[in-house]
Amino acid sequence: MTRRVLVCGGAGYIGSHMAKWLAAHGVAPVVLDNLSTGHREAVRFGPLVEADLLDPASLDAAFAQGPFEAVMHFCARSLVGESVQQPLAYYDNNVTGTLNLLQAMQRHGVDRIVFSSTAAVFGEPVAATIDEDHPKAPINPYGASKLMVERVLADAAHAYGLRSVALRYFNAAGASADGDIGEAHTPETHLIPNVLRAALGDGSRLKVFGDDWPTADGTCVRDYIHVDDLAQAHWLALDFMAAHAGAHAFNLGNGRGFSVREVIAAAEAASGHEVPFDIAPRRAGDPAVLVAASDRARQVLGWAPRHADLQAIIASAWRWHCQPRF
Ligand code: UDP
Repeated sequence: MTRRVLVCGGAGYIGSHMAKWLAAHGVAPVVLDNLSTGHREAVRFGPLVEADLLDPASLDAAFAQGPFEAVMHFCARSLVGESVQQPLAYYDNNVTGTLNLLQAMQRHGVDRIVFSSTAAVFGEPVAATIDEDHPKAPINPYGASKLMVERVLADAAHAYGLRSVALRYFNAAGASADGDIGEAHTPETHLIPNVLRAALGDGSRLKVFGDDWPTADGTCVRDYIHVDDLAQAHWLALDFMAAHAGAHAFNLGNGRGFSVREVIAAAEAASGHEVPFDIAPRRAGDPAVLVAASDRARQVLGWAPRHADLQAIIASAWRWHCQPRF
């Protein structure tokens, strides 16, 4: 029988790359999405069921397309700054929505989930690189909402035998090599798409949120990881869950931090265009530096990122931004 995975949020940026990966590896993705931020045009690799995690009854239609060997859960509100302004919306979507999803999984006998978590669960780092044992002290509601779900998954493993892998992404970036899907948010808040928009010369100027951070050049440092390398980790998590009970978590990054100014320079090199920018005030909720230690994912999952070079990551995003399909 065909293997099937329910990809919640599969019309979004990371979810659509995951659906593509699954289809390419012989597993049928069924996409559940409310299209609030996702794109119908990004659902190209399996059927779409329009459903909303905040409407539990709507979830049953998606589960009726099973049986599913697992759920991959990419649905979330994920903007740090917005989460500071609208915390209740974040807790509602990210926590209540996930509880509804887990209850739907119970109703339909699905006992495995890969959960999109985030580096934001850690808050301000107390070490140069962040491994899984780093203290978890989120400094914004987005990170707090994801950490709450990690706790729920641990409790559900204990009580019901739910198997889970939480993957804590650092900064997802890049696009599919053949240019059919890529990152498209409205409004766009993420650094690399905004840098590339400014490079395209559409009249926008990048705002650099603060140049007085305690970093080498004063701008924030992040660990950028290619979206297909994230997809690879989810794929490996399926096998891992088949062999291991319990709730597990892994950090996913390349282990190298780049400042906003370094990203601008890499984008100028990748695109051959200048990036006009202005220094703006710091953005609420941002930590200064976030860099992953991903040894556990490499050792335990066998994860091996294939697109670690920042300029190559940005070049893949540049190809998409020059010719977006949606
Ligand atoms: N950033 C920026 N200008 C932008 C968007 C982001 O200076 O237009 C900075 C932001 O303050 C952070 C880094 O770039 O330090 C990465 O932000 P992004 O929103 O891409 O990801 P996050 O780290 O919030 O998940």
